[in-house]
Amino acid sequence: MSMKFPIERFRKAATPLYYYDMELLQQTLDKIKGSVSRYGFNVHYAMKANANPAILRRISKAGFGADTVSGGEIAAAINAGFKAEDIVFAGVGKTDGEILLGLREGIGCFNVESAQELEIIEQLALEERKVARVALRINPNIDAHTHHYITTGLEENKFGLDISVVPQMIQKCMQSKALSFVGLHFHIGSQITTLEPYRMLCERINAIQDDLERQGITSIKSINVGGGLGVDYDDPDKHPIADFDPYFALFHNHLKLRDGQQLHFELGRAVVAQCGSLITRVIYVKEGIGKRFAIVDAGMTDLIRPALYQAHHRIENLTGAGRELRQYDVVGPICESSDVFGHDEMLPEVHRGDLIALRSAGAYGEVMASRYNLRSLPGCIAE
Ligand code: PLP
Repeated sequence: MSMKFPIERFRKAATPLYYYDMELLQQTLDKIKGSVSRYGFNVHYAMKANANPAILRRISKAGFGADTVSGGEIAAAINAGFKAEDIVFAGVGKTDGEILLGLREGIGCFNVESAQELEIIEQLALEERKVARVALRINPNIDAHTHHYITTGLEENKFGLDISVVPQMIQKCMQSKALSFVGLHFHIGSQITTLEPYRMLCERINAIQDDLERQGITSIKSINVGGGLGVDYDDPDKHPIADFDPYFALFHNHLKLRDGQQLHFELGRAVVAQCGSLITRVIYVKEGIGKRFAIVDAGMTDLIRPALYQAHHRIENLTGAGRELRQYDVVGPICESSDVFGHDEMLPEVHRGDLIALRSAGAYGEVMASRYNLRSLPGCIAE
């Protein structure tokens, strides 16, 4: 175990709580900035991964843009100091109220996902006497080989537009005084752990650009390739920072950007996952039939990924140093059989009151917490 946890603080604190190692977050941000500065790429942090105000402030201060998917996220981004022009807004179901908020704040871009959405954005922009900058989200039909709940770039998914409708939608933007076409948007999925799907995405984008050029469309100022870069959930101490260099280099080497074209990324998980851990206390150790359960005070309401995606977070007994290893199912207190963090986990013998860390929980953790069973939301220490 190499992450240094402030265990004495945890002992005094109410659990469950999210602990964010802000130094690791800063190192991750510095790494990304160093990596993209070689190529002049832009990164918008995908706020859906973690919208904790301390995290947002740190990321906005580092000069990143924000990728948002709701009016609430747009408002939180602005509160945290992100510049409106650096905010992009995606999502298949933007409401009129959310579109109006984006227009009034002057956000950088609406990533449009249907022909009807484009109509509505135009109509609202006309009423507001504003010009909406729009990118069209194309479904590239690429299999990201990740969990089927987090693959988004296949034809069967609800996201994005089929390429066949894109030329006429670009023409519509060109003819409208309320719409300004800025570029194309893609996103193929999340927790992608090999670069091959991204290489395929580059080839797909190259072909799309060639094809659009043949049709006389040369006004594409920006390409946004979404996010999805995965992290090492099995060994967060070995890979505390994702492999950003080869990831960005791949786009530099394979994507044929036209003169003056800007490349944008929307990374979420890879920015914040490893800096966060869910800290929980053991309430009971229960001897079952052929099973021993460590029942902890965190549940799927605090970290839903295991129940929702069959995800596994590394589990550590922070206060069990020196004890012999024993086997446990680590489970939460929620009245659902899926409320399990790990089966057959080998942990230093667990006692009531021990503090357990569920690692790599900085992304899609706290932000997805709910009050199911009328539980309190988890606390937080960010330092
Ligand atoms: N961009 C879009 C459009 C998304 O839907 C998502 C995640 O679902 C992201 C970016 C961020 O993905 P990740 O956290 O895997 O980087």
